[in-house]
Amino acid sequence: MYISKSFIPILKNIPSEAKIKSHQLMLRVGMIKQSSAGIYSWLPLGFKIMKKIEKIVREEQNKIGAQEILMPTIQSSDIWKESGRYEDYGEEMLRIKDRQNREMLYGPTNEELVTDIFRSSIKSYKSLPQLLYHIQWKFRDEIRPRFGIMRCREFYMKDAYSFDINDEEALFSYNKFFLSYLKTFKRLNLTAIPMAADTGPIGGNLSHEFVILAETGESKIYADKRIFDLNSDGTELEKNSLDNLRKKYEQFYSVTDEKFDKQEFEKKVSEKNQIKTKGIEVGHIFYFGDKYSKSMEASVDLPGGKKDYVKMGSYGIGVSRLVGAIIEAKYDEKNEIMKWPISVAPYDISIIPMINKNDSSALNKANNINLELEKNNIETIIEDTDENFSSKIKKMNLIGAPYQIIIGKQTDGDLLEFKEVGKDSQKLKLKEIVNIIKKEKVKN
Ligand code: ATP
Ligand code: MG
Repeated sequence: MYISKSFIPILKNIPSEAKIKSHQLMLRVGMIKQSSAGIYSWLPLGFKIMKKIEKIVREEQNKIGAQEILMPTIQSSDIWKESGRYEDYGEEMLRIKDRQNREMLYGPTNEELVTDIFRSSIKSYKSLPQLLYHIQWKFRDEIRPRFGIMRCREFYMKDAYSFDINDEEALFSYNKFFLSYLKTFKRLNLTAIPMAADTGPIGGNLSHEFVILAETGESKIYADKRIFDLNSDGTELEKNSLDNLRKKYEQFYSVTDEKFDKQEFEKKVSEKNQIKTKGIEVGHIFYFGDKYSKSMEASVDLPGGKKDYVKMGSYGIGVSRLVGAIIEAKYDEKNEIMKWPISVAPYDISIIPMINKNDSSALNKANNINLELEKNNIETIIEDTDENFSSKIKKMNLIGAPYQIIIGKQTDGDLLEFKEVGKDSQKLKLKEIVNIIKKEKVKN
């Protein structure tokens, strides 16, 4: 892709309405454009990144046996009246009437709709467990939309739902999602910590929020710092192994402010291990038993002939919020350098030729390098304008491909000036560069 032909409308200055760095960068490099309060269009650069995040989220859902569906954005109020949430949800729900005067709404979440789908087809314990998910736009009329796509009104979410015969099986499902979340965030190069959370208006009895540390986050968190050293390596998709994984995390104190208890914190965590900071919630998992299945009469036949309400959980990931969360974690705002993790980078590498008006040799060289990289499935962006060197570099640093090749006067023969963003540049052959990038991509 040539920068001159791309739709990446870069701004010279940081727009004043943007208060946090993810919002600043996203407007600056034209990843999004606000269409009205808390509602955004996604432009090519932002959309490309979000789609890559979505793909990773999807792959990790599929790996635990969840099946993808797609439910509509517009729902009927009838099912929400059945569950009793039509009134409870309050003003965050956008309510609409159709031409027949029927009450409709733009879905803020999908427990009711998925329960309705489930109950219409699944009648026996033999078909359990069922893990269903979709990735779809949600609308919540947030009282104070802010920070760009971090807290907006229309946002893109993965939401999954589990259906099981009893508590024990339901916790097995819960733990599968617990594992899949750890793996998903790891592939996004984020350290997301599961924190015991308040279940809020959704109700129920077991819940974790997955939070990444960031000064600009809206969640207050209190944790034992040793939890940051844990990982899910070696965990199998099997009951005991998953149980142990959750126990391993739960041995360390980590809660958001709703669950915070000062005395307990000080008793359980020695002063040197105490972390009190802020974070961004990127995912949330709940177990709520028969809360919806009871009110909506979703039951299954049990082995002995009796019936029981199915036990449910729900599991959300803020796919669009993650774009901002990664920026909050990776953007060096002081030096104006973004480095996207290779797993979601819009381009793997930028090629920056020093173009002289009367001499096209640097651009020709860039084109040849580009051909070779593309042959190896390496995504490139070429800075083909005739602007000066420093403004070209500045632009590419903001777009955030993790690698750069600079083609200048000194470039001669086979050795290229190659740079991993944030590190010193080195002289390498194209073949070596290809190998480095390919190896990084395989890891993710
Ligand atoms: P929050 O406490 O941030 O309002 P929530 O508890 O209401 O989140 P859930 O209903 O669990 O969120 O939604 C699942 C995920 O969707 C959240 O973890 C978050 O990443 C994302 N999300 C929720 N609300 C918004 C929003 N207004 N804008 C962008 N993403 C959101
Ligand atoms: Mg909310």
